[in-house]
Amino acid sequence: MTNLLPLTDTFGRVHNNLRISVTDRCNLRCTYCMPEDVTFLPKDDLLTFEEIAALVRVAVPLGVDKVRLTGGEPLLRRGLPALVAMLRDIPGLLDIGLTTNGILLAQQADALASAGLTRVNVSLDTLDPGRFRELTRRDGVEQVVAGLLAAKRAGFDRIKVNAVAMRGFIEHDLAPLAHFCRAHGFELRLIEYMPIGAEAWERGKVVPAHELLELLDAQVAPLSPAADYDPAAPAMDFVYADTGAKLGIIASVSRPFCDRCNRLRVTADGKLRNCLFALDELDVKPLLRPTVRADELAAALRSNVRAKWAGHQFNTADFVKPARTMHSIGG
Ligand code: SAM
Ligand code: SF4
Repeated sequence: MTNLLPLTDTFGRVHNNLRISVTDRCNLRCTYCMPEDVTFLPKDDLLTFEEIAALVRVAVPLGVDKVRLTGGEPLLRRGLPALVAMLRDIPGLLDIGLTTNGILLAQQADALASAGLTRVNVSLDTLDPGRFRELTRRDGVEQVVAGLLAAKRAGFDRIKVNAVAMRGFIEHDLAPLAHFCRAHGFELRLIEYMPIGAEAWERGKVVPAHELLELLDAQVAPLSPAADYDPAAPAMDFVYADTGAKLGIIASVSRPFCDRCNRLRVTADGKLRNCLFALDELDVKPLLRPTVRADELAAALRSNVRAKWAGHQFNTADFVKPARTMHSIGG
């Protein structure tokens, strides 16, 4: 009989949060995430929706109650609402989120809401078309804004706007982004720039959380820790003193949260990764194709979680960058 104890690693961390990449393709080319020229996976290598749902059906009884669909750009995967509807029907799965660059969101927001998507995070680093092009190597800021507004109309609440804080950019973009989010009721989440893209990462390009708070305080409005501020949570939650609206900072570099990590990832081609920065992967496609081998899948999930290291090493000289860049892992 399958062992239904939660997915726990050797450091006692319990894993309930599964990030599922549905494609490595993208319609943008963010410099911090992926190279301009890239060979994408052949279509047959991608897990099918049935295979993804089968994996989730095995993971839920092991304690996974949150999934997030990501990529690459997940909205490039044809018929994504159908996958959301399949996941919605899995008893015990409480939360189905999506992280998207928003380019195609205006066309799909209603269908995703009707299918049962519970949360949407939209990545947007700047409202300035020139800097958007510089950062993403493509045009499209108007489409992203249209996507965000469509998500709001579709009824999603607590829509988050993810912005990577890179020096040379965020100093210009922070105030306009924060004002935009405050005006529309979106929750801004600032993410420290991490060494997971194609370009050479420089610590000097990271704008640490304390500096972001100083900029916000000077340029937007003072913030104070949220009433439910949890020093253990990945996002440090703050509220604006004047409106009470929330803002989050994900300080993976200046304040790593590895010791509380509850995340597990599966790539679009079916490789389990127990850390964003993992150097090893476990291929579960052979346990899903041609037939689903549920007990072996459960054992694979367990062994992958058990093998998790204490945490990423990017604040030490021992750091080794994974071979995959962010777009092919799933952020
Ligand atoms: N394409 C979708 C999007 O952009 O939202 C989903 C995938 S993307 C890889 C997921 C998240 O990773 C985005 O919010 C993106 O900004 C973030 N990201 C990518 N590269 C990063 C880096 N080097 N440091 C910090 N965050 C990064
Ligand atoms: Fe594409 Fe998202 Fe990576 Fe930008 S961050 S290149 S939108 S996968």
